[in-house]
This record gives sequence, structure tokens and C-alpha cells, in this order.
Amino acid sequence: MHPDLKTVIELQQTDQKIAELTTLIDSLPAQIQTLQAQLDDFIHTYEERKKRLAANQKERKELEMEIKEIQEKISKHKDQLYQVKTNEQYRAMLKEIEGEEGKIRKIEDQLLEEMIEAEDIQKHIQEAAARLESEKARVAGEIKRMESERQTDVQERERLQARRQELHAGLSETVLNHYERTRAARRGVAVAQVREGLCTACDVLLRPQVYNEVRANEAVLTCENCGRILYYVEPDAAQTSAALDKDAGAGI
Ligand SMILES: [Zn+2]
Repeated sequence: MHPDLKTVIELQQTDQKIAELTTLIDSLPAQIQTLQAQLDDFIHTYEERKKRLAANQKERKELEMEIKEIQEKISKHKDQLYQVKTNEQYRAMLKEIEGEEGKIRKIEDQLLEEMIEAEDIQKHIQEAAARLESEKARVAGEIKRMESERQTDVQERERLQARRQELHAGLSETVLNHYERTRAARRGVAVAQVREGLCTACDVLLRPQVYNEVRANEAVLTCENCGRILYYVEPDAAQTSAALDKDAGAGI
């Protein structure tokens, strides 16, 4: 194989790995943010429920106070019943007492609703409290793991960038320029494998003469359609060697 071709294939693989690593490395802050937001949501809901429970307790106290006040009013009215002079006044007073008792029943219904709500909130709060510490630990662990992965990725990228420099230095200027120009124009891919007479990057059939030359891998040739540098891999290289192994095994 032509040395420049060999180098440019490795350069392409290196650049692609660098690009993949960069995507991974750059995606980390957003991933951490999402995770953190999930935990914040969890804590926020928990805090809101605690606030709601406190409000519920306050409301219940107020309702109980209201009932007490009305009860006092009723007992005052009942005392007054003995002092009224006419039947009319008596009936009016009874009606008033009935009205006040009706108010109490309404407030008692409200109280019951509030108590049911309080039980429900309390259950949620207890569940959340039991999970809170493990949720915090889980998120912290996840973030730590992601950061350590990122550190590994950064180191690997540095290693590949150094390798990239070596490969650059080893290439002839013409090939390097063509490589970089095509890479910029073709979304990062400047080298393409040829398979069954086709450039696998743009799917265009090579002219037979070009195909024959590419198959030899002894020159740096480019696709006439997409401009990518072409190389050829024996399609059944792996199969052939596997078959040979099998044959050898059968002979023993
Ligand atoms: Zn092509």
C-alpha cells in the first residue's frame, strides 16, 4: 500500500474518533444539567408539599376557631330564647340558630376535606423524605461517573490529537492539503472505501480503469464525483482466512 494512503486512512480514523469524543465531551454539561434539574424538581415538589401541609394545618385551625365562635353565638342565642317576648321573636331566633348550625356543618365538611388532604400530603412527604438522601446520592454518583468518563475521553482525545500531528507530519503536502480541504467540504469524511466498484461515500460507480488502480492501493486516487481519497479492502479477506483455518483443521 502506498505510504500516504496508509497514513491518510489512519488520519481519517483518528479525526473521526476525535470528532466522536468531542461530541461526547461537549454533551456532558447538558447531561449534568438534566440530572441536576431532575433532583431539583424532586426537592422542589417535596418542599412545596411541606408548605402545603403547613398551610393545611393553619386552615384547619382557623376552621376550628370559626366553629368555636359560631358555637358560642348559638349558645348565646339559646340563652336569649328565654328572654324573647313574642312567638315571632322566638321563631326568628330559632331560625337564626338553625342557620348557624348549618354553617357549622359546612365548615365540618371543609375540615374533613382538609384532613383527607393532609393525610395524602403526609404520605407523599414521608415517601419523599425516605428517598431524598438516596436520590441525592444517586445523582452525585451519576455526575461523578460522567465526569470521570469525560476525563478519560479528554485524555484519549489528547492522545489522538498528538497522533494526528504525527500523521500530518508524515504526509506529503499535496495529500495533506487535499485531505483537509475535502474534510472541510465533506462534513469530516475525506477518505472512502471502494466496494464492488462503488465509492461507498457517494455511491457513484468508478470507471473500470480507476477501479483497477484503486484496487492496487499503490497510488493516492480520488473519487471523480465526491473528491474523497479512495482505498480498497479485499471484501472476503476475513472469510478466506477463516476458511483456510477450517481446512487446516480438517486435515489433521
Ligand atoms: Zn465518492
